[in-house]
Amino acid sequence: MALWKKYLQPSTVEDALVALGVEPDRSAVVAGGTDLLLDLQQGRHSAVNTLVDVTQIPEMTAIQKQDDFLHIGATVPLNEIIRDVRVQKHAQGLTEACGLIGGTQIRNVATLGGNVGHALPAGDGTIALISMRAEAQLASAEGRRWVPIETLFEGPGRPSFDRSREILVAFRVLLSGEGEGSAFKRVMRPQGVAIAILNMGIWLRRGSSGKVEEIQIAVGPAGPQPLRAVKAEAVLRGQSFDSGNIQSAVQQLLQEVTLRTSPHRSTKAYREHILPTLFERTITEAWERAASR
Ligand SMILES: Cc1cc2nc3c(=O)[nH]c(=O)nc-3n(C[C@H](O)[C@H](O)[C@H](O)COP(=O)(O)OP(=O)(O)OC[C@H]3O[C@@H](n4cnc5c(N)ncnc54)[C@H](O)[C@@H]3O)c2cc1C
Repeated sequence: MALWKKYLQPSTVEDALVALGVEPDRSAVVAGGTDLLLDLQQGRHSAVNTLVDVTQIPEMTAIQKQDDFLHIGATVPLNEIIRDVRVQKHAQGLTEACGLIGGTQIRNVATLGGNVGHALPAGDGTIALISMRAEAQLASAEGRRWVPIETLFEGPGRPSFDRSREILVAFRVLLSGEGEGSAFKRVMRPQGVAIAILNMGIWLRRGSSGKVEEIQIAVGPAGPQPLRAVKAEAVLRGQSFDSGNIQSAVQQLLQEVTLRTSPHRSTKAYREHILPTLFERTITEAWERAASR
């Protein structure tokens, strides 16, 4: 049986919103389709009549510097993001995360908009964006708004925005300044190409005399939504970058996350076991990168 009846390819965001509005409860936005088509085929997504393909909308497929921000269109294929030197310079953690998603064929079509739109607690692109202090632009019939990425999630697979009436147009991250650096790492099952056992993104700014002036930490899967670990951040903010403070942050992080056993990926105990090492390696990488800027 066909998975949809109508396939539309609008060339503006406004036309895409009009197309969705005709029958919002029986329509879906599609980008690379690497999540959505499997969900439709396997019955995890309600049936649709219309797919609205947003990959031919110029403003959604561009990467550009604007004022103090780097803008990344929501439908830029991941392989293009990886190759972009501006992303490598200003959002190295995001380059790393995109480079780990799926294999080459997946990365040729999959997008950041789809990774965020799928709303999994451990989407690699999502975790990196949260750690990078990124914002998303959402468009609806009422207009456009910029919102912090971490506000976009309600629960596993459930975004806080209405996917049948709103479109993620672009993401933006602040251009990187002196003493700032980021890193992304994850632990996968050896044969795994999908969701991580545990992933982590850290962005930080080095202050004078070896202090962590500012920091953002994101972890997944560590609860029903992608987690920004604000309490662990607070332990390190303004403190010296030394092993004692890093261990205090690890202890705080272990309390802040909700780790669980998932049948196909990992036990809770294994996640608890690897979290300290993942944290130490990710923060050390971000710290060393920040020194070289
Ligand atoms: C073999 C395989 C390996 C994978 N490996 C990984 C991995 O290692 N790490 C990882 O994080 N993910 C992985 N994934 C999941 C998937 O590839 C990513 O989440 C990808 O980024 C989804 O992007 P897409 O463009 O294909 O999304 P789509 O499938 O097109 O869309 C996903 C969801 O988001 C919505 N959506 C898409 N674009 C927008 C938009 N602009 N505005 C609003 N809603 C939108 C859709 O309606 C749909 O609900 C893997 C998938 C496969 C099949």
